[in-house]
Amino acid sequence: MPGGYVGKILDVDLDSGELKDLPLDEEMARMYLGGKGLGLKLIYDEFRADMQPFDPDNLLIFATGPATGEKIPTSGRYHIVCSKSPQTGTVGSGNAGGKWGPYLKFAGYDVVVVRGISREPVYLEIIEGKARLVPAPELWGMTAHSVTDELASRSENPKKTSVACIGPGGENLIPFAGIMNDKYRTAGRTGLGAVMGSKKLKAVVVSGSKRVEPADPELLKEKVAEAMAKIKENPVTGPKGGLHTYGTAVLVNIINESGAYPTRNFQEAYFPDANEQSGETLVEKYLTGRGGCWGCPIVCGRKSDVPDGPFSIRDTEGPEYETIFAFGANCGVKELDALVKANHLCDEFGLDTISMGGTIACAMELVERGLIPEEKLQNMTLRFGDPAAMLEAIWRTAYKAGFGADLALGSKALAEKYGAPECSITVKGMELPAYDPRPIQGIGLNYATANRGGDHVYGYMISPEILGLPEKLDPYAVEDKPKWTIILQDLTSAINSSVVCLFSSFALGLSEYAGMLAAVTGFDLDPDKLLKLGERVTNLERLMNNMYGLDRKEDILPKRLTEEPVPSGPAKGQVSHVPEMINEYYALRGWVDGKPTEEKLKELGIA
Ligand code: SF4
Repeated sequence: MPGGYVGKILDVDLDSGELKDLPLDEEMARMYLGGKGLGLKLIYDEFRADMQPFDPDNLLIFATGPATGEKIPTSGRYHIVCSKSPQTGTVGSGNAGGKWGPYLKFAGYDVVVVRGISREPVYLEIIEGKARLVPAPELWGMTAHSVTDELASRSENPKKTSVACIGPGGENLIPFAGIMNDKYRTAGRTGLGAVMGSKKLKAVVVSGSKRVEPADPELLKEKVAEAMAKIKENPVTGPKGGLHTYGTAVLVNIINESGAYPTRNFQEAYFPDANEQSGETLVEKYLTGRGGCWGCPIVCGRKSDVPDGPFSIRDTEGPEYETIFAFGANCGVKELDALVKANHLCDEFGLDTISMGGTIACAMELVERGLIPEEKLQNMTLRFGDPAAMLEAIWRTAYKAGFGADLALGSKALAEKYGAPECSITVKGMELPAYDPRPIQGIGLNYATANRGGDHVYGYMISPEILGLPEKLDPYAVEDKPKWTIILQDLTSAINSSVVCLFSSFALGLSEYAGMLAAVTGFDLDPDKLLKLGERVTNLERLMNNMYGLDRKEDILPKRLTEEPVPSGPAKGQVSHVPEMINEYYALRGWVDGKPTEEKLKELGIA
């Protein structure tokens, strides 16, 4: 096997309880690297257009890449995919940090493929190359933190053990439940946790000590030194940079001042109280320390503590920028301590914070418009700006308690149920993240075209349009945005197949990634070839979505964002111009009506 790979896939059949070691195909690794790309290829090889999200044949795949666990900055990551998402109806996909990815590799596998449905709750244990399924009815019902502590305590080496698991959200098949690892890291989007819950798989425990050798250690050392120098001198990723100092919440004031901080379910795009929930305020009031994923020099994680008051929560982590927006401005809530607590609850219950916040915000608008009968709410005061009601809505959702059963539908089905589909701010059924696309044209095009729906990290256009990295683009302009969106989407597909952290791309570009990956694997990689590999991954995912029946008609934004101008704030009057950009995007992609042509698929080696 080339450097950077163990060369082994663990295939777990929960129907029969059989575990098999399969060899990793070298040609497949050359074409798709690992992580997202490799996971998608494995799904494609068993693809069924009539797949249902909770079908036993829905594959759930945990995949590392050749960079994972190597001495490469930000390589503590892995990617999870499933054949069909319960939230979007697309292929499901999510990425997480922590230490689980490297520990899986050190335990002796590149990839774990899970198929079937267990008769009773189980967990999967992979310790030093040996895998087994363990019956675990006693763990069903536990929160993510409790089960993590319990399984770590059963390990001979708790400090070298990592647990990926679901909470009650996944068990209760909430379509936006995530998979948690190391307590605070989440593969949050597209409902991967619900797929895991449907399989009755509570957790995957990994521990091992076998490092994987790179193909050319000397060359890797040289390339890593160059990358580290760039990360250190970069104003975002460096030791005094925004990410380390303030975490991702450094964006709160920046985005609000750009007039793009979604407020009150995207009815507005400026929140006057934003500074009360900013990264700067988090540092001042609740930060107790910083932490990072395995092998990361950036260290963007927050350790936080709310010692007293109605929203007291001790020794927790976070919240990230997206979470602050979702429960903060988007629900009209300004109290930062309540947002720290909301984040903690979602981590315990295993819920995606963006979709949970977006669904509560949608419900708040439905209440404001008088569309939800009082008796349905059972005394919940779901009004914009009410932090206690927002927190109550989270636990009610996780357990489908009372009105929580409606919230557990997600905002799309909720808004349809109460006769106002326009109140769901989603793309392909997934709630939009923390950037109003009306004043940031490229991020809107990215949301509309992202294969997994409302997704900011598919092609993070905020980097050039707001942060000016690698160069500053006018956020209001539409010119060149299709080209930029495509490059960033394909770059991200390559990053998620490597697997390294997207945040490293504030400082690094294709040549640094290609150089490090070539040194690790020995593959003939350069910037163009790596970008082409990313394009292959993007197109393969799109092809499978097309086979599920998705096409141009799903590549749209909610009407609120293309037809209702921003009502106030710095971006007053702006609307998204996605309809004007989409044809150019398709033409540059080699797609017709949202579908890759035969020629494009052949060119990429897919067909
Ligand atoms: S930058 Fe942050 S999220 Fe990314 S690997 Fe480092 S600590 Fe993890």
